[in-house]
Formats: sequence, C-alpha cells, structure tokens
Amino acid sequence: MENSFFSNLKCRECGKLYPKQAIHVCDFDFGPLEAVYDYEAIRGKLTRQLIESRPQSMWRYRELLPIDGEPTVGRQVGFTPLVKADRLAKALGIRELYIKNDTVNYPTLSFKDRVVSVALSRARELGFEVVACASTGNLANSVAANAASAGLKSYVLIPADLEQGKVLGSLVYGTQVVAIHGAYDQVNRLCSEIAGKYGWGFVNVNLRPYYAEGSKTMGFEIAEQLGWRLPQHTVIPMASGSLLTKIHKAYKEFIDLGLVEKTPFSVHGAQATGCSPISTSLKRGSDLVKPVAKPQTIAKSLAIGTPADGYYAIHSMNQTGGSADDCSDEEIIEGIRLLAEHEGIFAETAGGVTVGCAKKLIASGKIPADSSAVLCITGNGLKTQEALLNQCGAPRVINPSLREFEDQIYQPDLAAAF
Ligand SMILES: *Cc1c(COP(=O)(O)O)cnc(C)c1O
Ligand SMILES: [Zn+2]
Repeated sequence: MENSFFSNLKCRECGKLYPKQAIHVCDFDFGPLEAVYDYEAIRGKLTRQLIESRPQSMWRYRELLPIDGEPTVGRQVGFTPLVKADRLAKALGIRELYIKNDTVNYPTLSFKDRVVSVALSRARELGFEVVACASTGNLANSVAANAASAGLKSYVLIPADLEQGKVLGSLVYGTQVVAIHGAYDQVNRLCSEIAGKYGWGFVNVNLRPYYAEGSKTMGFEIAEQLGWRLPQHTVIPMASGSLLTKIHKAYKEFIDLGLVEKTPFSVHGAQATGCSPISTSLKRGSDLVKPVAKPQTIAKSLAIGTPADGYYAIHSMNQTGGSADDCSDEEIIEGIRLLAEHEGIFAETAGGVTVGCAKKLIASGKIPADSSAVLCITGNGLKTQEALLNQCGAPRVINPSLREFEDQIYQPDLAAAF
C-alpha cells in the first residue's frame, strides 16, 4: 500500500532485516526485532501542517506506525490532554511541569490502548482470528475491549492476584480471562509456549514489534502539544521498560524528521521499590538487569521481575543524561494524593510511582529545579482502589436534616467570624 512507509523488522543487536511477519526475535542472537521505516520518503511528506490537519488521535502520526493499510482497531485512541500542572509544580519544587494524562485514554483508561490499537490493527492485516496477551492488568483490559469491538476472539492471561477493577475490567467484554497462580514472568513464559503451539496473535509476544511502536505516540503527542518542542525532562514509569525506550525513539524520530528542533532532553525511569530491577541496576552503574523473583508492591501494573526491555531502557536513560529512582508503597500513595489534590487527576498506583519518583529526582537535583518536565501518567485510579482503602479518610454521614448539617458539618457562626 502506497500510504505505508513501514519497510521491515530489524534486529536491534545485529541489524539483520526480517519480513513484516508475526515474529519478534532474531534467529542468530535472539535480539528483539523492531520496526523500521523509509525515513527518506517520510521526510518529504510528513509536515507539522499535515499532522495538525488530521483527527485528534494517535493515528495522526500513522506514517511512523507499523501497519500497511489504514488502522482498523482503535482509530479513536490517543491525543489525551497535556495538562500544565502549576500547582503540582510548586509542591514538587520545579519551575515548569506538565502531566501527560493517559488516565483518560480511550477506551480503557490507560496508555495500553495505544499499543493494542497498533497490535490488533496489524493482527488483522496478518490474518489472526484469535488474539491474546500476558498482562499485569491494563493490557488485558485493552485487548479485551478492542478485540470485542473488532470482532476478534481474545484470551487474556494475568497473575491471579490482580485488583478487582482490572479483573472486572476484562471480564465485562466477554473475553476469556485466565488467572495464573504465579507472578507475571510465569504468565509470560506460558504465553510464549501457547503462542508457539497454537499460532495465536499475542500482542506482547509474537506481535511485540508492532505493539511496542504504539508507545511512541505518547512521545509524539507530548512534543506536538508543547508547541512542537521537546521537554527537557520526561519521567516515565517502567514495567518491561518498553514505554521509556519508545518515548526516546519518538523524540529522536521527530528530531531526525525536522519536526522539532534538536534540543537537549533526558528520559528518566520510575519503578516501585518492591520491583525495581531496572532502576536498581542503573543506579549501580550497570546495564545488566538482575531479575526480581518475587515482586512485592501495590504497583502491580509495573511488577515485572524480568523486564524484557530493561537493558535498552538503561541505555536510553544513560544516552540522554537521564536517571532513575524507585519509591515505596507509602510514597506511591503520597504520589497519588499529591496529583489528585493539586491537579484533580486520579491516577492508578503506577501514576503514584511516577509522581513519587519525580519528587525524589527533583529534590536530589537530577531534575533541576529551574527546568521543565513532563510526567507520564499512564493509568486510571478507579482501577486500583484497593491501594487507597482507609488512606483518604471517610465521608461524614448524617441524616437529611439541615440541623445536623449545621451541627456537624458547617457552622455558619464560625464562618461569619472570618
Ligand atoms: C504497562 C504499563 C506501564 C509500562 O509498561 P512498559 O512495559 O514499561 O512499557 C506503565 N504504566 C502502566 C499503568 C502500565 O499498565
Ligand atoms: Zn540479530
């Protein structure tokens, strides 16, 4: 198709080119495969004006996404608000701060709708009738919803101990939800076996090169919404580390295509202390990621003990002068509340991780107080309510009586005295 500039898959290690099939590792060195494009052809065509003339969805950057035809799944996904967060900036002690608010991404309220839109559009082009995923919750919700709307049969495999909101948020779409006794890594291993045996389209296994590219759109949107410029600092939550590497790639592609000026930028990673294989190894000055056998954190969406893209995430952070940190369950809850109370945005636990780590990175000067930063808030707080039970107080209960209201809630005499 003429409209496609997506040319090949390519091994990140040895550079060997592969056809655009449902494959994800190199035969020679097991390196991950990545989508490549005909950038020369894109350079002549993709302009700011052309992008701005298109509908407000992630598909306005379609030349940089790995499908052949037009998107058929998730056409409305993306272009979430970039919120200038002056009150939170003050609380965290930084000059300029923005929230990239994917808590309201369509249709399942997390950034995973971006990756699923690409993976399922490609799955259809490749002729898959059954799609599936290994998930820490949000991916399962998005595969279930988007498969339902596309008329694809779906299976989602999750660790058995996920939050109610994430479980129900898959079941409601009529998908097959398979809960595994075990951590995410074990779920993922099982999925690789199933994918090999039955030939289903696993969005984050054999369709991973397509899936992963969807994350770039978060970076593209940040740059466009800042008025076609790059932020000095971007703080990104890490599970497998894929989102971080793809925001890095997005910024580089926009520079290479002349869509933004080449200004210095750093990408910083955020993890939960109870599962911080990537941030811990970065802090140690190593790029070898030591697996975490038993993740223990309320940020279940980020609880991947053996992160597939950890090595590349560390290189993205190092190459851009970025850093990483992790935060405890208490700091995660504090982060959720800071964001809610200052900006009116209710994020899930992963959002608490991002805010909590940003606070530390600013306090330590790794993100300077006189700089500008974007925080990537990737999921909605209504899905992880368990984390906040008994943490935010309780409503005061009265009878429907004005007298009780004035006795117990609001005293007009006292108020008049101010
Ligand atoms: C999946 C997920 C991430 C990051 O995932 P990566 O595997 O690092 O790309 C971040 N936040 C939320 C809420 C997620 O569900
Ligand atoms: Zn290779």
